[in-house]
Amino acid sequence: MIDFSHFDSLIAIAEYFNTKERCVRAIRDSRWGDGDVVCPYCGGHHCVERKDGRYRCNHCKRNFSVLVGTIFENTKISLVKWFMAMYLISSHKKGISSHQLHRDLRITQKTAWFILHKVRTLYAQCDTPALQGEVEMDEMYLGGRETNKHESKKTEGTQGRSTKTKTPVFGMVERGGSVRAIKVENTQAKTLMPIIKQFVADNAVVFTDELSAYNGLADEGYVHGIIRHGDASAPTPSRAFGDTSRGWCSEHTIL
Ligand SMILES: [Zn+2]
Repeated sequence: MIDFSHFDSLIAIAEYFNTKERCVRAIRDSRWGDGDVVCPYCGGHHCVERKDGRYRCNHCKRNFSVLVGTIFENTKISLVKWFMAMYLISSHKKGISSHQLHRDLRITQKTAWFILHKVRTLYAQCDTPALQGEVEMDEMYLGGRETNKHESKKTEGTQGRSTKTKTPVFGMVERGGSVRAIKVENTQAKTLMPIIKQFVADNAVVFTDELSAYNGLADEGYVHGIIRHGDASAPTPSRAFGDTSRGWCSEHTIL
């Protein structure tokens, strides 16, 4: 989230964030800071900046701008207006109406409503407290089951955990608390680890299966317990995502 704490007025925002370049730099700093640029498609950390200011991921070979995966992706509204809107929304503690935003920024009411909705969703996400205590994690795949499809519609090589026809979803459950479920590109460590660090408190006790993607959890400072699926003597966790009657398809559950 953009840090507006150094700005004390709308005029200060307007004077500083007066070009697209300055807004882009602030988004970049807020997103990656001094750390690696992380590919929004595969979670890869080996990205190089191109001459045009976009980035190229050495892992999945895709190009992306700093806006991909943010509320500003594909926007036709100028970033200067977005920044002013974000400041206005964050500084009106009791809320600002889309009608007010429409008048203050000389944008249509429809655009004002759109911005308001996006920014409020973003702020709500940032305010979401981290999962605490004992947290279970699991990966699951949502989508059509190949075995139920007509022969002509089956996809080659999609037995088991394929991402060709199914969407991987990563779920985190605080025991006795709330749930976060995130659509992911894959279930590799470099994809899952940043999500875990974002959503799970540093002092949480984390339970996962034996997937190697979780091997680095202890190095990140988490107490890490491993649940071995199929081990009858192991304590049974409350498998929040194992309830197949709701249509969740855990990769560990044979339906
Ligand atoms: Zn990538």
